[in-house]
Amino acid sequence: GNAVRLQAIKDVEAYVPPAVSFVDDEKPGEIFGQNVFSKAVMQKRLPKSVYKSVIATIEKGKPLDPMVADAVASAMKDWALEKGATHYAHVFYPLTGLTAEKHDSFFDPVGDGSALAEFAGKTLVQGEPDASSFPNGGLRNTFEARGYTGWDVTSPAYVLENPNGNTLCIPTVFVSMTGDALDHKTPLLRSQQAMGVHAERILTLFGHENVENIVSFCGPEQEYFLVDRHFFLARPDLLNSGRTLFGAKPPKGQEFDDHYFGAIPERVLGFMMDTERELFKLGIPAKTRHNEVAPGQFEIAPMFERGNIAADHQQLLMTTLKTIAKKHGMACLFHEKPFDGVNGSGKHVNFSLGNSDLGSLLVPGDNPHDNAQFLVFCAAVIRGVHKYGGLLRASVASATNDHRLGANEAPPAIISVFLGDQLAGVFEQIAKGAATSSKGKGTMKIGVDTLPVLPTDPGDRNRTSPFAFTGNRFEFRAPGSMQTVSGPIVTINTIMAESLDYIATELETAVANGTDFDTAVQNLLTEIITNHGDVVFNGDGYSENWQNEAAARGLPNLRTTLDALPELITESAVELFGKYQVFNHREMHSRYEIGLEQYALTIGVEARLTLELGQTSILPAAIRYQTELAQNVAALKAAGVDADLSALETVSAPLTNLRTALAELKSALAAQGESEALAEATHAKDALLPAMAAVRAAADSLEDIVADDLWPLPTYQEMLYVL
Ligand code: ADP
Ligand code: MG
Repeated sequence: GNAVRLQAIKDVEAYVPPAVSFVDDEKPGEIFGQNVFSKAVMQKRLPKSVYKSVIATIEKGKPLDPMVADAVASAMKDWALEKGATHYAHVFYPLTGLTAEKHDSFFDPVGDGSALAEFAGKTLVQGEPDASSFPNGGLRNTFEARGYTGWDVTSPAYVLENPNGNTLCIPTVFVSMTGDALDHKTPLLRSQQAMGVHAERILTLFGHENVENIVSFCGPEQEYFLVDRHFFLARPDLLNSGRTLFGAKPPKGQEFDDHYFGAIPERVLGFMMDTERELFKLGIPAKTRHNEVAPGQFEIAPMFERGNIAADHQQLLMTTLKTIAKKHGMACLFHEKPFDGVNGSGKHVNFSLGNSDLGSLLVPGDNPHDNAQFLVFCAAVIRGVHKYGGLLRASVASATNDHRLGANEAPPAIISVFLGDQLAGVFEQIAKGAATSSKGKGTMKIGVDTLPVLPTDPGDRNRTSPFAFTGNRFEFRAPGSMQTVSGPIVTINTIMAESLDYIATELETAVANGTDFDTAVQNLLTEIITNHGDVVFNGDGYSENWQNEAAARGLPNLRTTLDALPELITESAVELFGKYQVFNHREMHSRYEIGLEQYALTIGVEARLTLELGQTSILPAAIRYQTELAQNVAALKAAGVDADLSALETVSAPLTNLRTALAELKSALAAQGESEALAEATHAKDALLPAMAAVRAAADSLEDIVADDLWPLPTYQEMLYVL
């Protein structure tokens, strides 16, 4: 009741944050990677031949030599024991979107009462967690509950510190007995490989020799909210669903834009530094940090890394933020829309591809030959996003992200590409034919010699575009703050694989038929931009106009998760992912099913919480206030004074609405059943969501009326501004 809220306010006022743990003259450089089984550590501890073999796998994509596993395991164990590890864990990424780990002790009893530290190669390479309670979308029968984890050599192992004992963590894939992917890492590795093969074909055509190991690079920008833990614990909705299901808009919102890039509050800065210190130890290159648009909202962005490592680090980063926030008396919220009426949180996925020799292939470069190559890779992106925009939308579909996408604060659900003025200009001219000129930069022709130098940082940045070119990469802005980056990366990698395959084949054929290479490139670029240029849009993505224009251009506008998920099981999607061996049809269907299940589960939890809080917290508070007013009226009447009934009436009307809305929500919940996933998800969307909205509307209007000392839940004002 209200006592909890009032106590929370007192506790927040009395709270003293812990001192930041950066030791006086400790340099970030000294602790960076301290807990990582890095290349340097391996070089020092592994026999030379073993080291070479492992590095060939990591850097050149060569198959792992099974003979080296024992040697690596033994070195890894010694290193981890020195770091105070008592256990090891295969870490995997099931389809809940969370991180899972199964811990085992290093120590085996040896019969004489002592224990021996054991860690064999086969234990490093493969694990067998009982996995029956992870979502599998029908892939694993319950009688065959085993799942297998397999070591991802390319993502470094690390020691995770914990006051109760350290653990050696080994990033792994998670598959069923039949080899079907039950996780996010498996398809990521598969898609990276598929994209790499076709990128390498194109690079070979451009005259590069011995191109190896082209991978995706990903730099995720993580937005999050911080609230004081006392308030967090006094809000069962935040605690259990990650967002406030009630809460009237505060008198002061974000309209002053005074938080964005403002000075970081001291307490938050302490938290950020502490977090960064932990991230550095784990080799996570945390780089930028700043306030975001909404009050209480912040962002952290590590330097980009190879896709699968970035994905693993992103998961670790989220866990670390949560743990350190707790230590600093706060809760870190990753929900896409924890507070209505202020901006939600996203996770921009910055994407490029390349390798250590060539860098990012999406850098325009400063000689014309690079430039033509750059335009080819750009064209591949444009073509892929045009053909498979629906799949990109599906890759970020969730009940929680639905609150944000298309809500005039995040990109619209229509997936389009922003190129910026200059690059758009170049492609417009390519569309018209060969000879072209670039804005103020003289004439150019895509046939090498006279191409202009493209700027690496186009001045214009369009915040409303879901897929924007930003100088040396594309930035996919639709992913939600809570989501793993793997889904988006898998999708981008795969549509790139298809586009690059197409381009490579066209160019190879043209050249084989005697066409000169430059002309073949020129023709192909013209063809692609003519057929796929409709996906390019440089205007305001929030405008009404764009909705209409996009429809006229035939671009899908998949507003909700239930509109988007069916994209996963279209014939073209199943064919695409099958062809590049990223997902077989069973895996596609399982992901579709899981998407529906998670959607219905999320909304189901929210609906039950809404009902419970509405009935047990808000309704009683409003009734108490109504009673107070009624007693006041009765007392005035008894004293022979004219009683003003308006206050009583003002509370009674929304109170009646609340009762009605609660009753409706209750019956909508009763109609929720055990039917198949699509029916459950549809019921959640069409019955539960509107019923919850009605309860909230009535409750929020009561919040503006009921006496403050009776109100049970910490208010938006309190939660957002007290940091
Ligand atoms: P902004 O907010 O201006 O978009 P940030 O600095 O917050 O930029 O984040 C940009 C992200 O993009 C960082 O994670 C950065 O490492 C990443 N990034 C930069 N270059 C590339 C690239 N070539 N490929 C992938 N990601 C990149
Ligand atoms: Mg940023």
